[in-house]
Amino acid sequence: MVRYRRTPAWRWGGAECDLCSTPITFVINEATGRRIPVNVLPDGAGNVAAMKIGNNLHGYVLSKARPVIAPGYRSYMPHAATCPDRPRPKPAPKRPESQQLGLFDPPDNHHRTENDT
Ligand SMILES: [Zn+2]
Repeated sequence: MVRYRRTPAWRWGGAECDLCSTPITFVINEATGRRIPVNVLPDGAGNVAAMKIGNNLHGYVLSKARPVIAPGYRSYMPHAATCPDRPRPKPAPKRPESQQLGLFDPPDNHHRTENDT
């Protein structure tokens, strides 16, 4: 029973990181409706722009389409970027494509010989 972890924080729309217990809050992505976990305090280095509307933060992730923090918005840091306990996303596995192709018969040939006989 770990109920207590989610109580007071949830009342004000915040939460804690499951991994490091840092208080976090969510920015509702204006484009997708998804909630982006961010650090509670605005952070000029963050790439999430958010504006408080009612009890929620609404905003967007800076991108080529919207590269600046619009007036009235503040920048927040996605918690994932700073969470000390979060497993780092593994870099995309490098595919030694040329090697892999060399290990197997070209798939096309393989198929044909099995089906056509
Ligand atoms: Zn964390």
